[in-house]
Amino acid sequence: MYCQDGKIARIDEATMTPPSGAEVIEANGGSLCAGFIDSHCHPFEYGWLKRSVDLRGTTNITAVKLRVVAGIQRAKPGEWVSGMGWDQEAFPEKAMPSRTEIDDISPENPVVLSRICGHVALLNSRGIEALGYANRTGEEYERDRNGALTGIVKERALEEAYEKLPRSAERSAAYLQSVEAEAGRLGLATLHCIISRDSFREELEALAALDASGSLSLRYRVYVPPEALDYIDATGFGKKLGGPCVRINGVKIYADGSLGARTAALREPYADDPSNTGILRYTDEGLTDLVEAVDSKGMQAIVHAIGDRAVEQAAEALGNVAGGLNPRGHRIEHTSLLPKDLRGKMTRHSVRATVQPLFITSDTWAVDRLGEERVRDLYPLKTMLAEGIVASGGSDSPIESMSPILGMWAAMTRGGADSHEKLSLEQALSLYTTNGRSNGLDSAEGLVEGAQADLTLLDSDIGGMHPALFRKVGVLATIVDGRAVHSYGAD
Ligand SMILES: [Zn+2]
Repeated sequence: MYCQDGKIARIDEATMTPPSGAEVIEANGGSLCAGFIDSHCHPFEYGWLKRSVDLRGTTNITAVKLRVVAGIQRAKPGEWVSGMGWDQEAFPEKAMPSRTEIDDISPENPVVLSRICGHVALLNSRGIEALGYANRTGEEYERDRNGALTGIVKERALEEAYEKLPRSAERSAAYLQSVEAEAGRLGLATLHCIISRDSFREELEALAALDASGSLSLRYRVYVPPEALDYIDATGFGKKLGGPCVRINGVKIYADGSLGARTAALREPYADDPSNTGILRYTDEGLTDLVEAVDSKGMQAIVHAIGDRAVEQAAEALGNVAGGLNPRGHRIEHTSLLPKDLRGKMTRHSVRATVQPLFITSDTWAVDRLGEERVRDLYPLKTMLAEGIVASGGSDSPIESMSPILGMWAAMTRGGADSHEKLSLEQALSLYTTNGRSNGLDSAEGLVEGAQADLTLLDSDIGGMHPALFRKVGVLATIVDGRAVHSYGAD
């Protein structure tokens, strides 16, 4: 295959002599696929998580200090360092840590480390100073016997600290770039990028700045929260981010919560909590109005819906504006609990879907939540495709690994479970290629002459491979717009 000017220029059975000056990438018996697409991820959140200190699993204060030291070494002098996940119940003395224990390792950087529960945090002295907490009183600010602040803050005091953590387009840009490099190595050419609600301005500015300076190497299809719509109108970001590489596609709306937290909205109560049917975030009318507003702007509406009640509401609202053909590609995110009548509703209006195959292997408590009967309609991937729902695959990173290889493996094996919903290799690939492209409103061209040269080269011949082995497949090269953004040997 020969690529030129961002297009697949020639595919030939016979050996080609590469034109002089062409970069040559040997396939070495591996498999060449259309560039992989992650149809649902949160790269800015993942970038933030990667840059903060992960304290989960620490069993003593020394381990906490070692990880914080590493975090400080990555930060600039004076820059906030945040971490999460310590638990004093796992420490031998079972006592809350105090600021003095981290002051000596962090004389220059303010530090905030939240406990595993997220309701308590430890600040160092620089942090207390930066937040102006020195003279605060009340039970949110723990003090020792001598009346000195211990650095432990709770509830409101902790929320206020996090609100004051600096946000900037530069930081958001750094988060995105660290994730982009990893995504490229994983074989991803395009990310359907969900913008955070609490820092949409910084994230949109970061995307615009990186795009303008030519610093981005992958394609981004951007989904903003409804709160950002006025801002986009007022600032002209819709035009700024309207190119072939970075484009605002639509608006992400939350209809319900999650099964793990029992906040996904169900038609019938939770099997392990008979008084609870979860939480719908909108009335039927409210969601319909919002979807209509998005549609009337010419944008794609994507609605997070996990429980069957939320999927029903979303399918109804999207179906109303989609008509029969759904030209704007309105879709439902996750579509976890999807019984037959709701699949019918979606196919009737050509409502699309994104699915997260790795959820299948992570939701180990699904039977408890839903019971034996209902769980059969959880992630019915093969049936969805057979009935004609255009479904594409996403990681929901940082919830799951960003690796599309792992996503395909999960779609084909369902983690080894006995199920008739396992996808074939071809179907699993379609989730991350063809269906992903058309689901982002790009043309679904694929590996043909004249098509966009977005390619992923795998290190193995995947054709006859046993699905269980698929998770071991490596990525030799990722090519976007005819340029290698990652290639084995180059890094
Ligand atoms: Zn998500």
